[in-house]
Amino acid sequence: MKLILLGPPGAGKGTQATRLMEKHGIPQLSTGDMLRAAVKAGTSVGLQAKAVMETGGLVSDQIVVGIIADRMEEPDAKKGFILDGFPRTVAQAQALDEMLAKKGMKLDGIVELKVDENALLARIEKRAAETLAAGEAVRADDNPEAFKKRLQAYREQTAPVSAYYGSKGTLKQVDGMASIDDVSKAIDRALAK
Ligand code: AMP
Repeated sequence: MKLILLGPPGAGKGTQATRLMEKHGIPQLSTGDMLRAAVKAGTSVGLQAKAVMETGGLVSDQIVVGIIADRMEEPDAKKGFILDGFPRTVAQAQALDEMLAKKGMKLDGIVELKVDENALLARIEKRAAETLAAGEAVRADDNPEAFKKRLQAYREQTAPVSAYYGSKGTLKQVDGMASIDDVSKAIDRALAK
């Protein structure tokens, strides 16, 4: 199964991707996680990405397409994957189409979590508080200023990705405001159609 999860920051993509990963036994490919790991490891990609990530902007298409292409070559991604946080621009979606065509692969589903934007900042603040309570480090971009910019990047650059897949007739939309369990069930139903 090869899936894309779309939705704004704080929509619950990561939570649902983890559940889908367990259910289907396929890896979650999160460009955000990969970039954060690169920043932590101080690689050249990490050094290039750090400042733009901290302020809530988007890392260049060239960098993220490169890391996804490498990751999709790994053996565990051969039978399927859940893309979380990628593609975030139409150029990335087009690059993904080319990558999949070359591999003779087809996507099984593109699911968008629809959420009320007014609820997102509260969700991000809750995530930061829970992370702190668990004694873990809060993401550098989980703060109101960076969040505003992430939402702006989403509206300007990522919302057109939904339109891109919508025009191809492959997009399925799910109410992301429901409980985590209900969202999971709605995703299962959308994928079964
Ligand atoms: P996320 O964990 O998906 O919220 O991503 C955290 C940050 O990583 C984003 O705000 C961007 O700066 C960067 N990032 C993650 N995925 C992408 C992508 N596909 N394209 C550009 N930047 C990305």
